[in-house]
Amino acid sequence: MVYNTLTKRKEPFHPLRPGEVRIYVCGPTVYDYIHIGNARSFVAFDVVRRYLEYKGFKVKFVSNITDVDDKTIRRAKELNITLQQLGELYTEAYFEDLKALRVKKADVNPRATQHIGEMIALIEKLIEKGYAYVVEGNVYYDVTKFPEYGKLSGVKVESLIKGARVEVDPNKRNPADFALWKSRKPGEPFWYSPWGPGRPGWHIECSVMSSIYLGETFDIHAGGKDLIFPHHENEIAQSEAASGKPLARYWLHNEWLTINGEKMSKSLGNFITVRDAVSKYGAQTLRMFLISAHYRSPIDFNERTIEQARRNLEKIRSSIQAFRRLRELETQVEGEKELLAHVEDLRRRFEEAMDDDFNTPKALAAIFDFISELNEFTGSREGVSRETKGRVLKVIEELLDGVLGIETKVEEKEVQGLSPKLVELILEVRNVLRRRRDYETADFIRSKLEELGFVIEDSASGTRWKFKG
Ligand code: AMP
Ligand code: ZN
Repeated sequence: MVYNTLTKRKEPFHPLRPGEVRIYVCGPTVYDYIHIGNARSFVAFDVVRRYLEYKGFKVKFVSNITDVDDKTIRRAKELNITLQQLGELYTEAYFEDLKALRVKKADVNPRATQHIGEMIALIEKLIEKGYAYVVEGNVYYDVTKFPEYGKLSGVKVESLIKGARVEVDPNKRNPADFALWKSRKPGEPFWYSPWGPGRPGWHIECSVMSSIYLGETFDIHAGGKDLIFPHHENEIAQSEAASGKPLARYWLHNEWLTINGEKMSKSLGNFITVRDAVSKYGAQTLRMFLISAHYRSPIDFNERTIEQARRNLEKIRSSIQAFRRLRELETQVEGEKELLAHVEDLRRRFEEAMDDDFNTPKALAAIFDFISELNEFTGSREGVSRETKGRVLKVIEELLDGVLGIETKVEEKEVQGLSPKLVELILEVRNVLRRRRDYETADFIRSKLEELGFVIEDSASGTRWKFKG
C-alpha cells in the first residue's frame, strides 16, 4: 500500500507496466550545497526505489537538476560566475553528497538548461490549445481553463483569485495564473523563443523532463511536501492539459526535517549542509537518522536524535560483526534452526512494514528484535555452520545494505577508527602474556581496550571481543 497525495489515501501499488516502475523525484536547485532537510527527501525516495527493486521491479529513476531560476541567477551574479559554472559546481557537489549518503545514482539527471527547446515546444502547444496566453514577451498559464486545477493540493482557484496566496502581477488575467515563460530582464541569462528572449518558469521544467524520460504517464512522482502547491499542482495542469492523460499515478511527499522544532530551510538560515553533517557525524549515522522516522512524519534533528542514530547503527553493526566472526563449522550447532526461523520472521516483518507505505521505523524495529536474537545466539557459541551463516548474512545484506542502504560489511575497514585486524593482533599478544602468567599486563591491555569501547571475553576456548552495544 502506498499513500497517494492525489487521492489522500493508501492504495495498492500497481505500476502501469507490469514489472516496471518509473519514478520522477524533483531534484535540487543548484545554487548552494544541499542541506540535511533536502537529503531527507532524496534518501526517503532512494529507499522507495531500493525496496521496489528488492521486490523485483525494474525501476527507471529520473531526478532533475534545476539550474536556472531566480535563485541560481542571483547567486551566479553574487559569485561573479556564469550560470553554467554555478550549475556545474553545485551539481557536482550534490552528486558527491548523495554518493556519501549511499543514495543510488538516478538513471538520468536531466538539467533544465539542456531542455529549453522542448520547454518552448510544450509552451507552444499549451498556447495552441488555449491554456496559455502571451503578454509582452511573457507566457502565462490560465488556471481557469483547467477545470481540475487544485485536485492535488485541494487549493481552490476562487480563493487564489482573491489573491490570498499568490503575488499580483498586472500582466496576469487571474492572480492564480503562473508563468511558463518569463521575458528577459537586463543582465539575466536568456534563450530565444517565439515570444522573444527569456527563460522558462520552474514548473514547466519538470513537466518536460519527466515526459522526455518517462513518458506522458508514469508511476511515481515525488518530492518534499512544499512542492504539492504550487509546483506539482502546476505540473499537472501543464502536462495533463497538453497530453490529455494523467501525469503520474502515485504522488508521494515527504514531511519536514526540523531542527529544534523548526523547519530546516535556507531562508531561515537554520540549516546544516550534508557535507558538514557527514564530517561531524558520519554519512551512515546521518542516513540511519534520516530513515528512523516514517517519511510522512516530521523528524527533528538535534544532538539527542543523532546520537540515538549513532548508537543504533553501532548496535546493529557490532552484532553483525560478532556473528560474522563466528568460526564456520561443517555441521549445525544447537539453536541454528531457531535462528533461521528468526531470520525468516525478520524478512516477513520487514516486508510487511515496507509494504505499508514504506514504514522504515517499523522495519527497523523488526531488525532490532532480530539483533537481540542474533546477540543471544552469538554470545553463547563459538561457531555456526557455514550454511546457516551464509543464509543469515544474505538476508541481513538484502534488507540492510540493499534496501535501507546501511552498510553492514564494515569489518574489513574500520569501526570507530580502529581496525579489527589490529585488535585481534593486540589480543594475540595479550594471550601470549597470559600464558606467561603476566596477568597484570594482560589486565592492563584489557582495560585499555574496554576504554576504547570493546568488550573482551576470556573463556576456555579462547578470547573473543565485540563492540559495546
Ligand atoms: P530545493 O532544492 O529547495 O528545490 O529542495 C529539494 C527538495 O528538498 C524538495 O523536494 C524539497 O521539498 C525538499 N526539502 C527542502 N527542505 C526540506 C526539509 N526541511 N525537510 C524535508 N524536505 C525538504
Ligand atoms: Zn519538480
